[in-house]
Amino acid sequence: LIRQPHNVGGAELHVSCSIGIAVYPEDGVEIETLMRNADAAMYQAKQQGRNNAQFFTLEMDRRARERMQIENDLRVAIERQQLRVYYQPRVECRSGRLLGAEALVRWRHPEHGLITPARFIPVAEDSGLIIPIGAWVLAEACRQQALWRATGEDLAISVNLSAAQLHDPDLLATLQRAIAEHGVNPAMIELELTESLLMEDVTLTIDLLQAIKALGISLSVDDFGTGYSSLNYLHRFPIDKLKIDQSFVRNMLDDPNDLAITKAVIGLGHTLGLSVVAEGVEQSEEMQVLAAAGCDELQGYLFGKPMPADDFALWRQSLGGGNAG
Ligand code: C2E
Ligand code: MG
Ligand code: MG
Repeated sequence: LIRQPHNVGGAELHVSCSIGIAVYPEDGVEIETLMRNADAAMYQAKQQGRNNAQFFTLEMDRRARERMQIENDLRVAIERQQLRVYYQPRVECRSGRLLGAEALVRWRHPEHGLITPARFIPVAEDSGLIIPIGAWVLAEACRQQALWRATGEDLAISVNLSAAQLHDPDLLATLQRAIAEHGVNPAMIELELTESLLMEDVTLTIDLLQAIKALGISLSVDDFGTGYSSLNYLHRFPIDKLKIDQSFVRNMLDDPNDLAITKAVIGLGHTLGLSVVAEGVEQSEEMQVLAAAGCDELQGYLFGKPMPADDFALWRQSLGGGNAG
């Protein structure tokens, strides 16, 4: 019934729906418990790509509790200074010269140790906590950029942006504040947005991205090749860079399809006047193939893992002369 299209003013509108089901009395005898469990099942339905129904299970209960715990702990993580920004080098493919770093957030949980973003960013996104966390990462990145510049090393820092941040009406003000507070040249700050995020609401996104570009900040498409890009729209976005998803780079040497996709993305990017970055470069053979294909920038364990700013400085010294190749 829900799938049936609605005719509104001559346009055909479709509604999708995610359903969570909890059964009385197995899944709860009180209305609160039943509703909470149905809610956990609905969350699972959303995770499974929406537009489906899921029954509540004990495993869902365990996961829902863990999520709630993470969310509660995350609420105080900023003020208790448990968040850290790690920096992963990005190098010029042709020369091996260090160009900049990607800022990647980490959470030092007092009990669970270092928690990777894959575990807490989704929770932060759902709970809205990504807004203050994202603003904090941005401010940290700007502070670090200014520190590095003061020591004579003007490195570009790229920062990942979530959907909720893009929809935040205060985003432009947050960006301006971070840049102004640390006196950073906005050209040295890049924002990374995923492909699916860009395609979500194209007209709104184009306007917003243009406003961000007007601040002097550059823009990259992250995890390119994993979403559904409309190539027709891609050239209308005011973007500067494509980052080839690491899944292609990882299998490139063994799988001719992934190699073909990698080369095609490099060609596509260059045709659109964009610079192309390969992520997840771990082997020197991969670097050689990417260099031969004309890739502009490389990032991956081959050059350096994400590290705290202090370690990054040591890593730089160990290179001597700033050559990472
Ligand atoms: P991403 O932006 O695509 O970042 C690249 C991820 O690949 C990072 O994982 C990095 O550590 C990992 N990586 C880099 N080189 C290699 C390699 O050679 N081999 C392998 N196996 N992995 C490599 P990380 O730091 O765990 O971050 C995961 C994702 O979390 C990021 O993917 C990004 O989407 C998100 N994220 C991280 N920090 C932030 C943040 O401050 N804000 C937001 N919104 N998202 C963030
Ligand atoms: Mg990224
Ligand atoms: Mg990526």
